[in-house]
Amino acid sequence: MELTFPEKPFRTHGGAAVPHHKNTAQMESVILPCPSQVTIPMQQHVGAPCKPLVKVGDLVQVGQKIGDSDAFVSAPIHASISGKVSAVTKVALPGGQMVDAVVIESDGQMTVSPEVKPPVVNSPEDFIRAVHESGLVGLGGAGFPAHVKLNVPKDKHLDTLIVNAAECEPYITADNREALENSWAVLSGVYAVRDLLGLERVIIAVEDNKPDVIEVLRKVADNSKLDPEDRVRILPLHARYPQGAEKVLVQSCTNRVIPLGKLPADVGCLVMNITSVAFLADYLKTGMPLVKKRVTVDGSAIASPKNVIVPIGTKIADVIAFCGGYSQPPAKLLMGGPMMGIALTSDELPILKQNNGILAFAEKDAALPKPTACIRCGRCVSGCPMNLVPTQLEKYAELKDTDKLDQLGILCCMECGTCAYNCPAHRPLVHAIRMGKALLRNGGKK
Ligand code: SF4
Ligand code: SF4
Repeated sequence: MELTFPEKPFRTHGGAAVPHHKNTAQMESVILPCPSQVTIPMQQHVGAPCKPLVKVGDLVQVGQKIGDSDAFVSAPIHASISGKVSAVTKVALPGGQMVDAVVIESDGQMTVSPEVKPPVVNSPEDFIRAVHESGLVGLGGAGFPAHVKLNVPKDKHLDTLIVNAAECEPYITADNREALENSWAVLSGVYAVRDLLGLERVIIAVEDNKPDVIEVLRKVADNSKLDPEDRVRILPLHARYPQGAEKVLVQSCTNRVIPLGKLPADVGCLVMNITSVAFLADYLKTGMPLVKKRVTVDGSAIASPKNVIVPIGTKIADVIAFCGGYSQPPAKLLMGGPMMGIALTSDELPILKQNNGILAFAEKDAALPKPTACIRCGRCVSGCPMNLVPTQLEKYAELKDTDKLDQLGILCCMECGTCAYNCPAHRPLVHAIRMGKALLRNGGKK
């Protein structure tokens, strides 16, 4: 049966109407001048960490591979500036985990490595090998190695590529700017993935609070000679958080429900972030691996919010200084958006591949209201897109009852924060759920 395109998105469960605060949506991206130093962690992805391939004193160039792993679920790491390796050290990731890192002192030249050459791609296998070499990981924040996602098991039949351009997190506009500034690459990447994997249709999903993005992408898609059968279409989605979450997105676009514990591939879908798709087009053309990232820098403590394109490994403090520094003392610093971002303890940490936003908030915007007793209003339950019962998860996490937590499906929680956002009693539901998950994974021990 021929696949059709939805006229409008399908209904999904739950969610929240969060304020958008897309302050930088109309600001053209600016390029950070070459930093004097970068610190590049050997783990910027889900999976095995890389081992450094360079030592102190080595000269490196932009795009040169400086870290790799034999593990399939991993992604190589490349130098983002040219210069001299001044240290191979340990650095803390935002979650606190210590990993190896390569520190490069810039020579100010940004000399491109002779390793950088467009890949030769004549088959799906070549394509997946090239994606692996590019170091691409999910740029929407997940950090999952892209070659693993594209290497679809033989027993799964995919028919639909969903390009995730929802960008439902407040403040973050990095994907929005990618679509507006690089629409050619977005569509080129779409056609490349579609043709190499033999997919029947492509749905580019954009929240309807970005009419300029919808218009630009439609114009490019409608005028392309590479899609004579009109198998690539733009689908405006209701702007409702967390529209960009994979399971919600797949249902909005196809009305297919991903069963608990399963993946989009189990219902015939491949979901890719819009910036990841555009990166692939640029990589196939130039061979330059993933060495830079567009980051939205915003929040009430930032003097001059911007979208900045930065070499990976640049110190967050250097990026904030480029945005005019702090306008007020920052009481809260986040990597990512306010709903799912990670709180940072320092701006000395480096920008990572999957990092799409740095937000800094002044005291008045950072203070959390004091939690009060649950009033059993049920808003956390009706808002949960995964149909979980957050009140019960909180209760059994406090009781450390891992059997009950498992039965209640705690591991299906994607930590979207919708329940906590909707809670009038300001219960710290996500914090309790994270504790409960950690307990369950550690067999009941903290
Ligand atoms: S954080 Fe988890 S429990 Fe809360 S709404 Fe999101 S998926 Fe549901
Ligand atoms: S939303 Fe908050 S107050 Fe309402 S039932 Fe859930 S935890 Fe209780």
